[in-house]
Amino acid sequence: MEFWISKKSLAKASAEGERELREHPELLEKGRMIIENEKLKNPMPHCPLCGTDNIRRISSSAKVGNTLAFGIYGNKRKKQFECLNPNCRYKF
Ligand SMILES: [Zn+2]
Repeated sequence: MEFWISKKSLAKASAEGERELREHPELLEKGRMIIENEKLKNPMPHCPLCGTDNIRRISSSAKVGNTLAFGIYGNKRKKQFECLNPNCRYKF
C-alpha cells in the first residue's frame, strides 16, 4: 500500500515539475546556463588569493628552478599555476 502511495506522490511531484518547466521555460534555461558556467570555469581555475583568472600553467621546464626547493616532491606535482597579477604572483 505504501509503495503505491509513494509511487503516486513521486509521479505527482514529477508531473508538477514538468508543468513548472512548461510554464517557466526560463528555469530550464537558467539551469543550463549554470551548468555551462561551471564547465567554463573548471578548465581554468582562479587564483585562490586574488581571484583573477589571469593565470598560467607552469610547465615542467619552468619548474627547474623549483626543483632544488621542492626536490622530488616538486616533480610529482602535476598541476601548478602562477598568478599573473603583478601584485600577487601566487603559485598554486
Ligand atoms: Zn593572484
